[in-house]
Amino acid sequence: MAIPGITAGMHAPWPGAEALNSLLMEWTADGIFATDEDGITTFVNPAIAEMTGWTAKELLGKPQHTFVGHLPREDGANVREPLVSDTADGPVHNGAVWRGEGAVFLRKDGTIFPAAYTGAAILEQGRLRGTVVVFRDISIERRRKQWERTRNEICSAILEHHVLSSNLQRIADAFVAFHPSRSIAIFLVLGQEFRLEAEAGLTERSSRPEASTAEVQDARVPVADGNYATLSRPLVSGLATCPRFQEILESGVRLGPVFLLTSGSGEASGAVAVFEDPTRLVDDLALETMQSVCDLARVAIEHQRFYEEAAHRLNYDRPTGLPNRLFLEDRLRQTMGISRLQGKLIGVCCLDLDHFKQINETLGHELGDSFFKAVSERLSLSIRKIDFLARQSGDEFILVLRELEGSADAEKICTRLLKDLREPIVVDGHSLAISASVGISMFPQHGETVDQLLRNADIALRAAKRAGRGLAQVYSHGLGRQIQRAAEMVEALVTAVAQDQFRMAYQPIYTMNREIVAFEALLRWKHAKWGQISPLEFIPIAETTGLIVPMGDWVIKEVCRQAMEWDSAGLPPVKMFANVSGAQLERHDFASKIAHTLQRSGLAPERLELEITESWIISDLKGAARKLQKLRDLGIGVAIDDFGTGYSSFNYLQALPLDTLKIDRSFLHGLDATAAHPSTVRAITGLAQLLGLKTVAEGVETENQVTALSESGCDFMQGFFLARPLRAHAAASLLRKQQTVGGFSNLPTQTSFAEPSPEECLVHK
Ligand code: C2E
Ligand code: CA
Ligand code: CA
Repeated sequence: MAIPGITAGMHAPWPGAEALNSLLMEWTADGIFATDEDGITTFVNPAIAEMTGWTAKELLGKPQHTFVGHLPREDGANVREPLVSDTADGPVHNGAVWRGEGAVFLRKDGTIFPAAYTGAAILEQGRLRGTVVVFRDISIERRRKQWERTRNEICSAILEHHVLSSNLQRIADAFVAFHPSRSIAIFLVLGQEFRLEAEAGLTERSSRPEASTAEVQDARVPVADGNYATLSRPLVSGLATCPRFQEILESGVRLGPVFLLTSGSGEASGAVAVFEDPTRLVDDLALETMQSVCDLARVAIEHQRFYEEAAHRLNYDRPTGLPNRLFLEDRLRQTMGISRLQGKLIGVCCLDLDHFKQINETLGHELGDSFFKAVSERLSLSIRKIDFLARQSGDEFILVLRELEGSADAEKICTRLLKDLREPIVVDGHSLAISASVGISMFPQHGETVDQLLRNADIALRAAKRAGRGLAQVYSHGLGRQIQRAAEMVEALVTAVAQDQFRMAYQPIYTMNREIVAFEALLRWKHAKWGQISPLEFIPIAETTGLIVPMGDWVIKEVCRQAMEWDSAGLPPVKMFANVSGAQLERHDFASKIAHTLQRSGLAPERLELEITESWIISDLKGAARKLQKLRDLGIGVAIDDFGTGYSSFNYLQALPLDTLKIDRSFLHGLDATAAHPSTVRAITGLAQLLGLKTVAEGVETENQVTALSESGCDFMQGFFLARPLRAHAAASLLRKQQTVGGFSNLPTQTSFAEPSPEECLVHK
């Protein structure tokens, strides 16, 4: 059948065009129809019958409105609206071509579908003879576009939200909204186990008892990329044993395809099962949408895995696998909220391995790392399940202790941990025992924020280290103030060094006959705002900041100068004892600097004796022996200060070139009560005699102690009972007085001699 006017506006037909036309009419999937000038259908092609269900017979000779131009109204009724207008003044008469997507076609069964169309007027010498229209069902296209929009929305949601189950639920809901006749279940595959994460459309199904898991066995499973594969046996049983999956099958829906989602490495990461209502027709878009659902589900799962991994990388320390500080802060924050509700306390502990740096340096970093890992494993095993361990940095851990009743609980736990740590750890054949120090701050007393708690735990840690390491120390506000002041003091000390704010005090050292034979030089610092500050406070700060070195240089110079000044004033030559810190002794030029100072001042080296501490000696016995020998070679004396505190090791005494032991004043306490048996002091003096060392008893405060000491074999004594540290002029006048009195036996008593006038006394203890 020829279509009148289809060539309107075209070139002249070529040979065979007739045949081509009719082939096109036969085979094209588009609908083509023609009308006369009154809108009566004069031609329909076979595709129209396919699309609408009307036969050509039923349409020809009928108004086109029988099957075309019906737009659904809001009330649901279809309205006749001609697709090609036949009004005399309409565009039809101008020979124009119309295109549009708004047309609606009516099927014989009463349903409608949207169509895109092209219509043209057939004109004969300017007169309208009819119209011809080509149209295409665009319902699928529309649905596809609609799905694309949905898919894009889901994609953004996946990127924004990191909760996998809610992302998968979003996908399942969208699928069922799109295909109301189907249901869907989305699983996460973990190894061989299927875990249902989302489902939609499954609840209101009726029961179909004959359904069984056997269907799964038979299911040919399209893999999401379009290739069909059969679920491997373990996966089939994995899916079949998922309880919810069984329940779904028992509820009576028919299992459609199961799509297996695979990750980049080919491993199963998830599965999408589709269930169909067998009474409904399968629509063309279904497979496409399912494919898309699979892609979305796979992206959601992968995104989640990536996110978790990234979070893991961000949150975990690589060598130990422990959570890092970042993670810890989050966790701690959460825990704080819960504890507040529970009315319980949290202990935040900073745990630092003592001397770990040395281990690292001796063993090398690789072994150091392994060792650190072993330590972290031991700690992880020692803590309770509810507690939480993280790596802070370097050799520091943070431990969060939960559900505590008080700080004593935290101390108890930490003390046990420290004990566990002291058991030797074997790594690569090296057995190492480690000690650690812990600082503890309590939530909420010591801080309401993570930062505050960590800061205060760190302050407590520093205090624990200062107190001798291997200890657990709970934060207190006093500690906080100390640290604050220490920070201010560093600055003030820098100024003090620059502005020469230090002075010396001299405490006489007596023979047992109460004759002054030496002075111990003690550093004094008076700060403009804080007043007189005890060296017990500022010396440790000067030591940790290195300021002790210039301060110590000044002390030695001042002591030498003072001795020379007294010599020139005609006073009897006394020995000068000066305190030196480990940090000074460690300087390679220490001995040569002292030699230089002695030389410049003119003081004989024998007149100077340096007091050093046991702790410095112990840290490196061989090195200490070498360094001390250099001083000895110069002719300078060496004394051990505070002997007997902490280390009580006599072994090193033989190994070192020493002159004097200064017996710590703690040994003198016992002398008061049991004046007749000063056994420890006697033991020390006995040993000193064996080794050819002199002894000075420090901190003599009572007459009884003097009496006891004179029987103990001690050589010299020093203490408040005899004299406090004095300013140089007071010390000099004391020395002069002794010179004029002469002899020892009738030497000053406590009142006449040992108590300097207050203004002469620099420290009032
Ligand atoms: P130290 O070397 O043990 O000095 C003795 C300390 O005991 C002095 O405290 C002294 O005043 C005090 N003392 C003396 N007799 C008695 C007594 O009978 N009873 C009591 N309770 N105390 C007594 P000071 O002057 O406060 O010095 C404290 C510490 O500061 C010194 O202890 C020493 O370790 C350090 N120090 C002082 N001057 C220097 C210095 O120039 N360099 C270095 N590195 N450290 C210094
Ligand atoms: Ca001393
Ligand atoms: Ca001392």
